[in-house]
This record gives sequence, structure tokens and C-alpha cells, in this order.
Amino acid sequence: MAVAPGDMRFDVAERLTGNYIGGQWVAAQSGQRRADVNPADFSDVLGEFAESGGVDVDVAVDAAAQALDHWRGIGPIERAGYLTKAGRILEARSQELAYAITREQGKLLKEATGEVQRALAVLEFTAGQARLLGGVTAPAEEARTFAYTFRKPIGVVGLIAPWNFPLAIPMWKVAPALLAGCTAVLKPSPLTPLTSALLVDVFREAGLPDGVLNLVQGDAAAGEALVANPAVAGISFTGSLPIGTAIHAGGAHRLLRTQLELGGKNAVVVCDDADLDKAVNAVVHGAFGQAGQRCSATSRAVVDVRVREEFLERLVARVAHLRVGPGFDEASELCPVVDTARRDAALAAIAGAQRGGGKVVCGGGREERPELPEGCYVQPTVIRDVPWDAELAQEEVFGPVLAVVDADGFDDALRITNSVKYGMSGTVFTTSQTRAFEALERFEAGMLHVNRPGVGAYAHLPHVGDKASQYGPPECSPEVFDFYTAWHSACISY
Ligand code: NAD
Repeated sequence: MAVAPGDMRFDVAERLTGNYIGGQWVAAQSGQRRADVNPADFSDVLGEFAESGGVDVDVAVDAAAQALDHWRGIGPIERAGYLTKAGRILEARSQELAYAITREQGKLLKEATGEVQRALAVLEFTAGQARLLGGVTAPAEEARTFAYTFRKPIGVVGLIAPWNFPLAIPMWKVAPALLAGCTAVLKPSPLTPLTSALLVDVFREAGLPDGVLNLVQGDAAAGEALVANPAVAGISFTGSLPIGTAIHAGGAHRLLRTQLELGGKNAVVVCDDADLDKAVNAVVHGAFGQAGQRCSATSRAVVDVRVREEFLERLVARVAHLRVGPGFDEASELCPVVDTARRDAALAAIAGAQRGGGKVVCGGGREERPELPEGCYVQPTVIRDVPWDAELAQEEVFGPVLAVVDADGFDDALRITNSVKYGMSGTVFTTSQTRAFEALERFEAGMLHVNRPGVGAYAHLPHVGDKASQYGPPECSPEVFDFYTAWHSACISY
């Protein structure tokens, strides 16, 4: 997609900087605002967006509660009509959405365009589920009795989202919530408020009834108010493990239903019989695509020592030439990270790994070239000889930093892979069918890959993790409706 110079600094309509409650764009009652800054160029401020407090959240929850009876009453097939219409509008506005994502989140424009396509696929898949959202008829124990199961929407839901997929992740919460018959309050990340405002605007344009989908911008105070509001029947959260755990604990006293999609420390295992070029391609894509800011990003390469030197040589030859730059620049191959906090965390993780014996073989610092604007540019970094139990090999970095960990054979590689608390994705490169199936059996991770990158998922396959990466029903699959609906049974004697 070619970007004309003026396109990058489009004006943001004032209404989109507020909250969207009960069908109206409104300013936050808190009176607070927060600047939305382009991570590729600090001189580019998109706008001052609402920074909401508890009162704003409570008003939004009231609006969602008022809209609930009508919305759950019309049934899934009529509701799907709104999703289909929103899909058409999203397609027509796809460039606007992609530009917003690149400008406020920083990812490459082609990555942002891919994210819009993913959001569209999620909408299409979810709308299609309307005709399948039934239960079963069951045998009755008595004569002249009919028994069946059916789902009911759980009510008002709170949707709390991160910044790394600012369109796709909110969409894979909003779409099934609405189809199921829930009404919703979306609280996106304060780092990407515009993309969420545009998502909500797409549904507004599709004619969604007032109050069915509400948007409250803000951070922890708004998120906590959503969790604390007794009219909220469920919270679907995507973000970090500590915040997810706090949300779960915060709602436990009233048995709040939670769906938590959390962090990852994902490994690509490179066996001694692997196709090394394929493995290198996958690791480059998985570790440095979106500057490593994916929950499924490859952050460890667990490599058999017998092929380690050859693997590293080929890997470094590729990574050293990755061009770091703004997402709007077609020559860029690696985008900035989202903000200074993430940048500093990545740099601190690199320094910590070096203190622990890791050796930087590529990158290792900020990317500084005279022509780059002031922004959050981190060099793609490869660190070898990282002990399997070092902090860099155990904790999420969420930046363009790859730990290469030695493994002494296949069993050792699997032991190391499974040594972390997380279990988002697991990938193996091997030409042995036996090893491939054994890895799939033994990986303690939800999304598994053989001889392909460990990132990238389909709109219709469960987005799912093991261990501390996930709690509750998976997203992006028919199983998601086990979160947004509750099962009921009925027996009718006649
Ligand atoms: P984060 O946990 O800092 O924030 C996530 C959301 O929670 C934001 O909207 C934030 O405003 C809100 N929040 C913050 N404090 C809160 C509180 N006390 N109560 C309620 N809400 C609160 O995460 P992030 O930095 O936005 O995103 C990065 C994290 O998300 C990484 O750990 C990454 O692995 C994870 N992630 C997971 C998936 C997945 O599907 N499992 C996908 C993408 C990102």
C-alpha cells in the first residue's frame, strides 16, 4: 500500500477522542485526557483521548444493561445481520483502520493491513456461527417428555484489551459477545484508543442499537471499575499475567466469570535433523515480526548443540540486515516498539541477559540513525548461550529480543521448552515424523506448529494457551460461546 506523505498525519475527528455510551460520543466525566503519541515519531500526537474514571464506567454499564432486554430478545440470526453489515463497512474503511493502527501502535503498514483482514475474518466467522448456536435434544427418562439444552447470554460483559492487536483482539471479543446476545463495555488499552474508537464507529455506522456496544477509554482505574461493577456478568481480558490474575481475584468474591488470555514465552525447537533455512525463516518472522510484540512471538530458540553454530550463522546473517524504521516506510522490515516503557524494558532485559552470561551476537541496543525521527526503535537482538533458567529464558520481554538456548538432544529441548510458567505456542523443526508427533504430544502449550512459524492463527481455530497463558474458554472458535453464554436444560412433559 503506497502512503502519500500527507496521509500519515490525517486529522482525528474530535468526537472519536471521547467515550461512546448509549449511542452518543461523550467526554469523560473525569475531565481527564491522555495524549496518543506515535511511537515512530514523538512529534506526532494523534490527539488527546478520554482518560475515564469509575463514574464513566458505571454510566456505560447502565447503558449496556438498559439495552440488554431488546438485544437478547431479537435472536442470533438478526444479531448476525449487524455483524455482517459491520464487516462490509469495515472493508470499506479498511485503509483508515490500517493507517490508524500503524500510526498509534507502530507496526508496519502491511502488518496493520493484515490485522484488518484478520478482524474481517473474525467477523465473518462469528456471523456464520449464528445458525449453529443451538443445543442438543436429549433422551428423556419419562414417557411423553421432551428434553433439550440451550444457551442464554450471560448479560453485560466487560471487554478489556491490550495494544498489540488493537483491532483484531477487541473484534474477537466484541463480535462473539454481541452475537451471543450480551451487551458490552469495551475498555481498550490507553496506548491505542483511536483504533478502538474506529471499531465502535463501524458498528455505529452499521446501525447497532444504542447501548449494545459502549466504549470507555482509560487505564487501570477504568478497568478496575468494570471488574467491580456488580451489573457486569463477565470480564474477557487479554493482557499480562499480573493484571489478569488481579482481575480474577478482584471478581472472585462474587464468582465473576472471567476469560483470561495472558502472556507467553514461546519456543521454537530446532532439532539436529531440521531444515535450517526453514527454521531460520520461521524464527526471524516469529521473533521480529511486529517487533516481537505478539503473545505467540518466538522469544526462545531452543537449538540442538549439534546444529547450533550453523543455525546461528544463518540466523545472524538475516537478522543483522533487518531494516528498523517507521511502519509507514515501505523499506522498513522491523517496526518500533509501542512506547518508551517497552523500549526500556527490552533494553533492560538485554543488559540482564548479558550479566547472566548471555552473549549478544546481533543488535543489543537502540537503533539510532540520523534520518530516524525520535521514537521507540530497538535493534533486532539475538543473544546466544542463554542458560535455560535465566530470566531472559523464563520471562516475557515483548520486544525484538531472541534468546538462543542450547539443548543436548530432543528430550532436553522439550524439557527446556516446558520449563517456563507460560504455555502459549510451541513449535518444532524436524524432518522426523516421530519427533514431530512426540513434540505435539509433549509440548505444554496451546497452539502448536511443526515446520512453520510459531505465530499466526486462524479466525476459526481456538486461540488458546496452557498453564499461565490462559484461563477459561478459548477465543476465536465456537468454544468462545461457552464464555458469553450459559448452558441451560429444559424438560417438557405433555
Ligand atoms: P496489560 O496487562 O498491561 O494491560 C491490558 C489491559 O488491562 C489494558 O487495557 C489496561 O489498561 C488494562 N488494565 C491495566 N491495569 C488494570 C487493572 N488493574 N484492572 C483492570 N484492567 C487493567 O497488558 P498490555 O501491556 O496492554 O499487553 C501486553 C500483554 O498482553 C503481554 O503480556 C501479552 O503477552 C499479552 N497478550 C496476550 C494475548 C493472548 O491472546 N493471550 C494477546 C495479546 C497480548
